[in-house]
Amino acid sequence: MSLRKLLRLRRTLAFRLTLWYAGIFTLCFLVAFIFLYFLMIKDIQRRTDQGLLDEGEEFSSILALKGINELKTAMVLEAESEGVNKIFFRLLDPAGKVLASSPISPWEKVEQDSAILARLKNGNTHVLATKTLPDRPYGVRVFYSRIGPDSILQICQSLEDDERFMGAFRQIFWISMAVLLIVSALIGWFMARRALMGVEEVTKTAMDISGGSLERRVPAKARGEEIDRLATTFNNMLDRIHALVTGIRNVSDNIAHDLRSPITRIRVMAEMTLSTGKAVNEYETMAEDIIEECDRLLEMINTMLDISEAEAGASQLVMKRINISKIVREACDLFQPVAESKGIAIIHKVPENSFIRGDIKSVQRMVANLLDNAVKYTPNSGHVTVSVEKNDGQVVISVEEDGIGISEEDLPHIFERFYRCDSSRSHPGFGLGLSYALAVARAHGGDVKATSRKNKGSIFQIVLPAPFSSK
Ligand code: ADP
Repeated sequence: MSLRKLLRLRRTLAFRLTLWYAGIFTLCFLVAFIFLYFLMIKDIQRRTDQGLLDEGEEFSSILALKGINELKTAMVLEAESEGVNKIFFRLLDPAGKVLASSPISPWEKVEQDSAILARLKNGNTHVLATKTLPDRPYGVRVFYSRIGPDSILQICQSLEDDERFMGAFRQIFWISMAVLLIVSALIGWFMARRALMGVEEVTKTAMDISGGSLERRVPAKARGEEIDRLATTFNNMLDRIHALVTGIRNVSDNIAHDLRSPITRIRVMAEMTLSTGKAVNEYETMAEDIIEECDRLLEMINTMLDISEAEAGASQLVMKRINISKIVREACDLFQPVAESKGIAIIHKVPENSFIRGDIKSVQRMVANLLDNAVKYTPNSGHVTVSVEKNDGQVVISVEEDGIGISEEDLPHIFERFYRCDSSRSHPGFGLGLSYALAVARAHGGDVKATSRKNKGSIFQIVLPAPFSSK
């Protein structure tokens, strides 16, 4: 692995997690070992001391019952049975004079500790201490005990076995520590990689997407709650972006399409007038036609801007307490002449006063759009019923008619910008009226719903919050 790769690896989350994992694991092991080590040392020392105390008691009773000669023999026998190199017994008088001892050759450097003898003189029954002797690599546990009025027993026990045992224990510890460090680092690395695999998949998908394939998604797998949630959120976000991008693309396609026809018409008109027209009145007619086409274009562009403004939310609106009953009634009156010309009856069931909080101009235009569609898409002699109902803090404005209706396939799309059903192509319109109505209703905290059956008619309902009482 190159140095650059190694340096990059050092910065990865997997590497840092591994380090933490191995570090914490090793630290716990170290603490447990230190605790166990001191526990063992204490226990070993306690056993050694207990052994020395028992020997002291045994020799004390031999002295009391059988006399000093018997004691001397017992000391030699005991040292020989345990090993003269390992243990040494000596009988002293209170001044430190040697009365008897087991074989002394391996213990020549042992001295009588005058400070300890003084402590015994002052009333201590026994004293225990650990010493190091110049000719011995291991420590020695020294025990002094007053076993008779003029007799002091001194026992020196080599700690070689205990220290060797603890040394072996330490060695095992260091080996297992090294093994543990390697194993825990490997496990940590494996676990970190496993946990981060999902994140890597998300990153890979994001990279693919930035390369242009917006259809790619993170595959759904059971990788653990958090990563799955991240993958689902990421996929949902992609769905939304995809829908938005597709929407924007459709809208721009539609705009281009809708602009092309009037502009072509304007061009054809101008071209024809230039090639054929010579009289002033022909130029006047052309100018009038061009103005008409331009007005249509402007109307379409302005409606699009109004939709964007309404979609920006309530901040763009002038919200006031307004009488929705009055607005609906006025709208019905406005469309009465067109309806009459088609023999359509507009029936309205509108209560006296219902109030909502809203922007009067956009609410008027929203209601007018629904009525316009109802009259436009209802054949001659049809019926349009407009009603306003209030329930549960909401006002529902319904426009119902027995017109051409909308097919099941078209119904989910009619609120999209520029969407027009094939059956309505013969009628004028941009396909923006319902988009505008929906944007305004949503900006007021409401909604627009549509139900329809082909050739039977439709019901459009605007639902708006109504925080005021009727009065
Ligand atoms: P348009 O200007 O075309 O009426 P809208 O956004 O108001 O645009 O409506 C979108 C499309 O929904 C219409 O072109 C029409 O096909 C369909 N539509 C809307 N209202 C009705 C209705 N009351 N009856 C039948 N179709 C309707």
